[in-house]
Amino acid sequence: MSVSAAILAAGKGERFGSDKLAIELDGRPLWRHAVDTFLSCPGVDEVVLVGRALPGATCVDGGATRVESALRGVEACRGEVVLIHDAARPFVSHGLISRVLEATLAHGAAYPGVAPADTVRHAPTGHTPPRAELLAVQTPQGCRRADWLRAQEAYQASGENPTVTDDVELIERIGIRAVPVPGDPTNRKITTPADLPTLMETRTGMGYDIHPFSQDATKPLWLGGVLFEGVGLEGHSDADALLHAVVDALLGGAGLGDIGEHYPNTDPRWAGQSSDLFVLEAATLVKREGWHIIHIDACLIAERPKLMPRRQEVRQRIAELVDIQPERVSLKATTNERLGAIGRGEGIAALVVATLARPTVGVQTWKSSYATPKAT
Ligand code: MG
Repeated sequence: MSVSAAILAAGKGERFGSDKLAIELDGRPLWRHAVDTFLSCPGVDEVVLVGRALPGATCVDGGATRVESALRGVEACRGEVVLIHDAARPFVSHGLISRVLEATLAHGAAYPGVAPADTVRHAPTGHTPPRAELLAVQTPQGCRRADWLRAQEAYQASGENPTVTDDVELIERIGIRAVPVPGDPTNRKITTPADLPTLMETRTGMGYDIHPFSQDATKPLWLGGVLFEGVGLEGHSDADALLHAVVDALLGGAGLGDIGEHYPNTDPRWAGQSSDLFVLEAATLVKREGWHIIHIDACLIAERPKLMPRRQEVRQRIAELVDIQPERVSLKATTNERLGAIGRGEGIAALVVATLARPTVGVQTWKSSYATPKAT
């Protein structure tokens, strides 16, 4: 049997206070999440989108009520079986769709349900039904297209107010028994902003830099924004290799390019410039994208100078520049055991890892289900 999915995305979200289906979730409008999941779901032959426009999908206008929108969607479906889903449930999964589809094919109609966590009470009568008998009903709900249309016709003929909010309720009115399948607690309906799950997304950035010691004996030695005794490093700016690696780790974590892109060594503005400026600006750029700098772990690779006696000072300075607590900056140093150029004392290298985090809503895989393995 051919299978169509009708995704209802016409709702205006009156309880949400704005068009809730249009809000961005992980780079896509909320309504798009369910559509993408159905489009990529095995067993679903066609997706009909109600109330939104999307190239490549069959799109129809929504109606004034949910029943009207569902009618327009089901009428546009060509499959013998229809799965009707509310786009306000963006976290629907292939597993759940498959459970509903299999039960629909086997029994004629099916819906997902989850046991309510709260006691449910019928306020007017004070009746409290046993919780074990109750199910909170989700979508998608499945049935034969012809049955749904017949139930809809009977419903219209009855002249009742359009209060049916559920397709199972509609088709059971013509004597069809829908079977429940296990729903999914994560398949929640977004009704108010509080329903949006907030997660912390964490990213890691790495940075590496190396500079040779200068031939100019008067060049000052800057490391981690702190002035050290001895001859400095050669480079376009103050050549603070440690701060340059911090900049690259921050930019890398936020996906904002690298230090060479932002501060090219061909630009006279950066000649002799203090690298403090690069770190301040990189931290600002990263924070502007909503990231919090959680931690910086730095390792200096050098035969000289001795870093350890001034470790706290350097940690403090890096922490100041990116505006985090010094406890969130780790600083280590190692020699290169006299191996290679660093081991011969010709220069200094630095490795830095930065951890960034930002609150995000509903991190989902991005079109990953469209990827197909390369032919070998
Ligand atoms: Mg550099």
